[in-house]
Amino acid sequence: MSTALLNAENAQKSHSVAARVPVTVAYGDGIGPEIMDATLSILEAAGAQIAVEPIEIGERVYLAGNSAGIEPSAWESLRRTKVFLKAPITTPSGSGYKSLNVTVRKTLGLYANVRPCVSYAPFVDTPHPKMDMVIVRENEEDLYAGIEHRQTDEVFQCLKLITRPGCEKIVRYAFEYAKSHGRKKVTCMVKDNIMKMTDGLFYQVFEDIGAEYPEIQKERYIIDIGAARIATKPERFDVIVTPNLYGDIISDIAAEITGSVGLAGSANIGEHVAMFEAIHGSAPDIAGRGIANPSGLLLGAVQMLVHIRQADIAEKVHNAWLRTIEDGIHTPDLKGERTTKEVGTGGFAQAVIDRLGQKPQHFAAVRYANPVEVKAQKPLYTRAAPAKKHIVGVDVFLHHTGNTPDELGVALSGLSTDVLKLQMITNRGVKVFPGGFPETFCTDHWRCRFVAIQESAEVTHRDIIEVLTTVTDAGFDVIKTENLCTFDGERGFALGQGQ
Ligand code: NAD
Repeated sequence: MSTALLNAENAQKSHSVAARVPVTVAYGDGIGPEIMDATLSILEAAGAQIAVEPIEIGERVYLAGNSAGIEPSAWESLRRTKVFLKAPITTPSGSGYKSLNVTVRKTLGLYANVRPCVSYAPFVDTPHPKMDMVIVRENEEDLYAGIEHRQTDEVFQCLKLITRPGCEKIVRYAFEYAKSHGRKKVTCMVKDNIMKMTDGLFYQVFEDIGAEYPEIQKERYIIDIGAARIATKPERFDVIVTPNLYGDIISDIAAEITGSVGLAGSANIGEHVAMFEAIHGSAPDIAGRGIANPSGLLLGAVQMLVHIRQADIAEKVHNAWLRTIEDGIHTPDLKGERTTKEVGTGGFAQAVIDRLGQKPQHFAAVRYANPVEVKAQKPLYTRAAPAKKHIVGVDVFLHHTGNTPDELGVALSGLSTDVLKLQMITNRGVKVFPGGFPETFCTDHWRCRFVAIQESAEVTHRDIIEVLTTVTDAGFDVIKTENLCTFDGERGFALGQGQ
């Protein structure tokens, strides 16, 4: 643990304790303790008024039998201080361990992950000298809901959940961030050509909320070409807003092409709590060697200082850091033509400390202001009146082998009830009955769509139970169902591919 900063106990003895803001700090795993010590020593030298409350999270807690990787007492500290500076942790491999990062973000409602990715040419080698983008990643939902099931011998499922509140909160955050940081453009990256309902909702919300910000330019990219453009022409992007998984991937690409994944910090913002960290992991390959770059965590801590209204200290630290980079004092991951002195983690921290109070000479000096307490004009999300919902059918999923699609289709067609009849069968989403192709590969997982015989008829839950009973009585293994509904008359389900 760092001796550099006063911990909470010592802080009580300090005459300046009243001014110190309590911050929950986790030293993490791998390179975590090394880069946290370096970061805290710089903050202390710069005069940051914080009182560190250390908590233990990560590998040791996991291996002691806590599958969540965090003790109940740590939650108490986090909920009280509401500010968390976190070093990276190692999630042990194996299905028994849940990702602590995801758990903390979701439990504390940290819905926005803000990752600035900036290049520092010519002092850090990068093919993209003019890069200055901020990735605003949705942080709580999407495939990270962690709802996974094995459904058959051959098929495993992970649920992608995209919600209207989740989209509205992150998209509004991105536009507000752009507005308050003088940014000109917000780009939405989605895959709504394929996932028309989930990613389609994200983009629809982007269009709707974006209309409230006429002064900000808006654009949309499909994530695949968007990621390619980030890798080749990153200077064209300003603020990017995107769902969770895409954001995770593109922010590592963006940080890496600035010169090192060790350079980027990130803020995880919620309505009540905020967490600050580096974007990289615990780097076990270099742990304990004293060569890790502490810059990512330090720049995360700079965002934290602004958040806790110590903008003057944030500015001092950031400018000293820029000057250190300009002076060519680099950790091994940044070694290049402009390196004048290669240093380890501690040497780098000392170099930043030596430059506190100095401004960069090549880069523009950073200016920060304490955030203005703005009373939001609108709440982040207001629940609309519920839509009129009608059930029009049901998708019945079967675990089944031994029949061709046509044989299965004929068997299930004979199991119609008075209300519901088989309309089609898909396998991995593509229609295989009626009129499937023999070339289509089929697994043991079948989605069998039953719809109302009379189109205008209202299907009830009892009608669904009846069809399930019929199908089960005929010996089929039903693994799950999805109701097919309309909402205010609008179809609430996708068609089968080829339907
Ligand atoms: P990683 O980011 O730890 O390392 C990737 C590569 O980048 C390694 O070669 C590493 O040496 C290098 N690197 C990373 N940070 C560096 C730094 N500050 N200075 C110099 N080089 C640096 O990714 P990984 O190896 O895929 O993951 C290792 C562990 O970290 C895994 O257990 C993973 O679950 C965890 N992880 C944690 C977080 C987090 O706590 N926020 C994030 C990502 C990964």
